[in-house]
Amino acid sequence: MFSRCFEQRTRLSNSKPMEKSSIHRPDGFDRPNGRSDFEVAIICALAREFDAVCLLIDEFWNEYNDQFGKVQGNHNIYTTERLGTCNVVVVQLSDMGKAMAASAAASLRSSYPQVSLALLVGVCGAVPFRGSGPEMTTISLGDVIISDIVVQYDLGRVLTDRFVRKNTAHDDLRRPNKTIRNILASLGGSRVQDQIEQRAGIFLKHLQGKANTKASRNRRRSHANYQYPGAVNDRLFQPWYRHKHRSGSGCVICEGCLSDEDPACGESLKLSCEELGCDVSCLIPREHLQSTLDDPDSESPEGIFFHVGAIGSGDAVIRSGKRRDQIAAEASVIAFEMEGAGVWDELPCIVIKDVCDYADSHKNKGWQNYAAATAASVAKAVIEKYIAPATVSNSLQSSDSIDLGGRQDTQRGGGGTGGSAGGMQFNGSISGSKFVVGNHRSGGTTNIRFA
Ligand SMILES: [Zn+2]
Ligand SMILES: [Zn+2]
Repeated sequence: MFSRCFEQRTRLSNSKPMEKSSIHRPDGFDRPNGRSDFEVAIICALAREFDAVCLLIDEFWNEYNDQFGKVQGNHNIYTTERLGTCNVVVVQLSDMGKAMAASAAASLRSSYPQVSLALLVGVCGAVPFRGSGPEMTTISLGDVIISDIVVQYDLGRVLTDRFVRKNTAHDDLRRPNKTIRNILASLGGSRVQDQIEQRAGIFLKHLQGKANTKASRNRRRSHANYQYPGAVNDRLFQPWYRHKHRSGSGCVICEGCLSDEDPACGESLKLSCEELGCDVSCLIPREHLQSTLDDPDSESPEGIFFHVGAIGSGDAVIRSGKRRDQIAAEASVIAFEMEGAGVWDELPCIVIKDVCDYADSHKNKGWQNYAAATAASVAKAVIEKYIAPATVSNSLQSSDSIDLGGRQDTQRGGGGTGGSAGGMQFNGSISGSKFVVGNHRSGGTTNIRFA
């Protein structure tokens, strides 16, 4: 798995004259030779999610057109790029939902058959409280959810009086493969959590700076604002409190909306809580946000924070606090989104989505840009930590013995001592450039970049 992600290019001595695509660049980031050089995919459902990912890309391989092509009949549009040391193919879905995601993932697998990990990156709605009692944790807007399993909460039987979700082991989506389970297990440790959150914070700052620079140069001023919207805009209403026209507004439909089953008018769904006058006395206070509530320019109070847990995936947008809590209790999910189930069944997948609303009737799009940017930043941090290093190990173990050229400083990993992997000895200076060229005894060369 991931054997080609990390920089490793072999040029056999008896090979044909190099084509343009096989020329080795001084920085080691050679252009991929074809679609089989991509083992990681990022899938986004929304344009703003795709845009955020693109702001973190280190190099596009197909800036203007898709030079790698695709299988006939494949309707996906692919963006191929380098994210850190890893070649990644990015797909933006043409619509939301499980069916669209499943179709796109199947097409991706046919055109990029070596893809062994798909990251579904974007925004989601969250269940604000996880667990109960002393074990209860709070999920806030801007927090990231990383899936350890995807639950199809809307798969089941509609009976006369109720909906019964299928929840047997046979009905659930298969559990992640061993590589993904190992990544998820590692993410459970506080030290790794700190590392991922810290690196993602750096990426987020970079993304925000890049977006600001673009915006300042753009005559249309159409670039998105990816800044933290402020804790003052993180509002969580009681689950029973509806978003609707208030009494005296003149709206007959909302005036008659008195129980959970009564409809609110469609117009009210388009208006903000401020425009409707939603009662702030019905907000649920949360201690960790209090310190920054009075400072609209504040950073996120805790920086980037992620949770690992079950994500509910269905075709409906959840806009009900009561229904949200009901599903959460039944299916033990901590967030909701609409594509995970479709991708999960086609490709080994991790869902990385940032919370932009609480899946209640008050939801709005005010947090979507920041959430998309944060999710993209965490995805890049995960790729950096797990996929590139995994490839180093794999590539070293699978390659021939390598005599490293150059000085005999007997260093490894940018200043360490002589090292070994897979029973092989590695000797040579890699400090400074962190990049070495090895000569195979079989006659070829291998470039290895160390993280
Ligand atoms: Zn109304
Ligand atoms: Zn409201």
